[in-house]
Parts: sequence; C-alpha cells; structure tokens
Amino acid sequence: MTRPTLFTDVQVFDGTGRDPFPAQVLVEGNRITEVADRIPRDRRSEARVIDGGGGTLLPGLVDAHTHLGFGSTVEHLSRRRDEPEEEKALLVAHAGRVLLDHGITSAYSGGNRLPRTEVAARKAFAEGWMPGPRLKAASWEGSAGMVEPGVYDFPGIDGRASDPDSVSRFVTGMAELGVDIVKLSLSGESAVVQGTSRIVQFTDDEVIAAVQAADKHGVWLTAHAHAAESIKMAVRHGIRAIYHCTFADEEALDLLEAARDRVFVAPTPGIIHANLYEAGSEPEPGMEVEATAEAVHKVVPELVRRGIRVVPGGDYGFAWNPVGRNLRDLELFVDWFGFTAAEALRAATRYGGQVMGMEDELGLIRPGFLADLVLVDGDPLEEIGILQDPGRLAVIMKDGALHKARV
Ligand SMILES: [Zn+2]
Repeated sequence: MTRPTLFTDVQVFDGTGRDPFPAQVLVEGNRITEVADRIPRDRRSEARVIDGGGGTLLPGLVDAHTHLGFGSTVEHLSRRRDEPEEEKALLVAHAGRVLLDHGITSAYSGGNRLPRTEVAARKAFAEGWMPGPRLKAASWEGSAGMVEPGVYDFPGIDGRASDPDSVSRFVTGMAELGVDIVKLSLSGESAVVQGTSRIVQFTDDEVIAAVQAADKHGVWLTAHAHAAESIKMAVRHGIRAIYHCTFADEEALDLLEAARDRVFVAPTPGIIHANLYEAGSEPEPGMEVEATAEAVHKVVPELVRRGIRVVPGGDYGFAWNPVGRNLRDLELFVDWFGFTAAEALRAATRYGGQVMGMEDELGLIRPGFLADLVLVDGDPLEEIGILQDPGRLAVIMKDGALHKARV
C-alpha cells in the first residue's frame, strides 16, 4: 500500500455547497479517512505531508458529457474524425490524460463511435497504468432506424415503421461490448444537420424496448434530446440522463420536476459557446445556434428553480471545443445561468458523484469517500475561472494516487 497523504493548511470545499472551512485531510489507500481541524500526530506519522498554502481543496471534478474519441484536445486539434481505429484508440487514451491534467477525475462519456476503445480505456484508467479519469463508457449514438455509426441524416419517425426489435438489439449489442451507457438520439441535432433538433427520432415503442433491454442488461440510457417531445419521451420512459433539454416546454418542465430525484440534465453550454464564438465560420441559420443559446438561457434557471440536478459537461472533443476546456462549463453556469460558484462546484462534485452512480463514495470530501481531490492555488469560489488554468491546479489526486503534485 502506498504511503498515506496528509493535506494541511487547506480550505476544504466538501462538495455539499457549504462554505469552505479550514481542515486537514488524511488519505490512506484510495480513501479519505479523516477530515479534522488537526489530525493527531500518531495518525499522521507515516504520511507524506502536502502543505496546501491556504489553497482550496475540492473533490475531484466530474464531467457528464465529453467525447474522448472525437480526436481533439487542447494539446492536439484535429478536424479529421476519419483516423484509423488504432490511432483513435490512442486518441482516447490521450484524451483521458488531458482530462486528468485539467482536474477531471471522473467522466460520464457522451458517446463513442468505437465503444470498444472506451471500454479498454476504462479498464486501463481504473488499473492505474494509464492516466485517465474514472470512466463510464458509452456506446455510439443510436439514431432513427438504428442507422450505422457515423451516418447522420436524422430523418425522424414520419413515414417509418416503428422497429422496437432493432432498438432492443442495438442496446443489447452495446451492453455486450461492455459499455455502461447506451446513448439514444431521441431528437436530431441542428448543429450537424440543419433544422433537425426539433425532429423526434424514435417512437414510444422503440424507447420502451430500449429501456427494457437496458434494464435487462444493466446499462444506463442517455437521451440526446433538444425537442420538447423528445425530452418528454425520455422522462416518461425513465431515462436517467438527458443531454441538452433545449426546447423544454411547460409540460416537459413539469415532467422533469416530478422526476427530479432520478433524472440528470446536462445542458452543454460549452459547445453552445463554442458554436457561437469559436467554430471559425458563420453558423447557418438552420444550425439554430442562436436559438439554442437563447433557449438554454431560459430553460436552465427554470430547471434549477424546480430542483432538477443540472450537471456540467459541454460536449467536449471537437476541434473548436476540445477536451481540456471542460471547466469552462462552470464559468458558463455562473455567467449564463445564474449559479453561484458554490452551486456550480456542487454540480461538478456531489451531483457528479451521483451521475456516476457512486453517490455513497464519490463527489464529497468526507471520511470513507474515494480520494479524488484537486488542490487549487487560490479560491475558485471567488473566481471560478481560475479552474480553467491547469497551472492553478497544484495537486491532482485520483483514487489515492497523486497524478500531479506541484507543492
Ligand atoms: Zn455530445
């Protein structure tokens, strides 16, 4: 077993949202074992001491919508997306290390065309011989009529016979590959095929078949859902995580509120910001970039007001929205949606542990919890933007192991 680690002179933001408090934190093995004003000498004699210099100790941060396989990080930008499979596997591994370098110690994947690479990365990261976050691995996005991965035309359900069997086979097949999450594009995506965000892609029977297969094989479902009807469909059938939620109407909001104890929403401000300001070309009107931004500005504060857990994760992985920029979502939660910095951090920690399905052991600084910790040089509650500078992340620990220790 590795030596214990003792953090001294830190302000602990414990993930619950309460104000930071001065404390010492002891890590033994891969767990936090004590959080106290002062830990007795006999408990700490063997420990490696990290003097935090008054910095802020956070639970490791969780991202709920990153694509490790899209090929772009802040260190490696690629618009290709057609690399050979072997190269893509390396890109997934690379993205894992970049996430960890930026304080993301857990990632709930947003989808991968090569789910086997993600399953392999999950194992390598968990075993610790390759740096990367705790990973919930995802399937590629199942689309209307279960088209092949990479084929996006978002034709909708009009004029197509419902085909629950193929949906069930898709979910089962993905589960057999070993993913944790199967993703369904319940609506289209206007940023990819103009005008399709408002199109519903699945029939009710198909979603019911997906839910039954997911339950049978022990995998979660994520819904990509912009259109109001697609959001309602996701909630009605018990889908656990909903991406975007852009055009939720009053009925959708009521359904979400009634399901608030079991549902998570990731509204993905990162990609919206990137599409508005960083895509490098004027968006076409049919991409609905401005309409999407306008809608989420209204819908997210309403979700929060109704007690729905909103989690960060801005669809990172594209060349204009690369992996490593993830914590910009927290600043956008504050600037766009009116979160306090503490609320944004709670969304990325406590709610993050919940979205990972590990709420009893992940997302809080508390004895017994897994030792995923980030020591910040400064106070992110005063200035949330400092988290985007990896130079300010003095220590990054995952599973009790130091990934980075500058102090
Ligand atoms: Zn995505």
